[in-house]
Amino acid sequence: MIEFETRTGKVVIDDSKCVGCKTFACVKACSLYGAHLFRINLKVNKPEPIYSAEDLKRMCTECLACEQECFLRGLNAIRIELPLYGLEEYRKRVGLY
Ligand code: SF4
Ligand code: SF4
Repeated sequence: MIEFETRTGKVVIDDSKCVGCKTFACVKACSLYGAHLFRINLKVNKPEPIYSAEDLKRMCTECLACEQECFLRGLNAIRIELPLYGLEEYRKRVGLY
């Protein structure tokens, strides 16, 4: 499992799925639309972050491109958690529960 914190959330990659991936769409997406945070480790056929945890937290733009492209063209291995603080209280207040 590859995990790193972002400014307001977390990126989680189940890299056990990546060994069967032929597209590495996450790496391309982050390089095109995000902050170019990954490279391909061909020895294990997995993506790997290029930077330290501290730098990843600062540099990730939370653009969601890696998650979307992995879902569309990869093997659905990425989950980005972005908690919306106050959402539960708001939903209760306006009667959505
Ligand atoms: S696109 Fe998804 S399955 Fe493919 S290497 Fe990236 S995270 Fe793994
Ligand atoms: S959310 Fe965007 S910047 Fe962050 S790792 Fe994914 S593609 Fe890169």
